[in-house]
Amino acid sequence: MSNTYSLVCFDCREGLPLGKGACPDGGKGEPHWTFTGFLSEAASEGRVVGEALFELMVHFLLLHRTHELRLIPDSSFEEVPFDQVMFMESSSQVLARAIDPAPGEGAEQQVARALAMRLSSPKGGGL
Ligand SMILES: [Zn+2]
Repeated sequence: MSNTYSLVCFDCREGLPLGKGACPDGGKGEPHWTFTGFLSEAASEGRVVGEALFELMVHFLLLHRTHELRLIPDSSFEEVPFDQVMFMESSSQVLARAIDPAPGEGAEQQVARALAMRLSSPKGGGL
């Protein structure tokens, strides 16, 4: 029996469901773990897997860079210290959100300054 995993931002209380942890080769040879995919509620998108799932995860990670992100199995959600997690419902919902600042010239320094401010503040600040 395997768990469904979600990537959860503890700062924004948003989650990206990734599907079950799976080892498609059935345990033969080198384990190659993956997720079974994000099941989008948009009928035209279906289950997001493979390269598209990776792209979705990267976008989510960049949206929440410097935030507290955890990979949570569904069996452990009782341990999450807040009531509501807003789960992403479609890949287009995630991908439509602008990454600000976009990676590139100057963005990393801006993010580094904001992170330094956040970490030096007891309650942290938004980014
Ligand atoms: Zn966040």
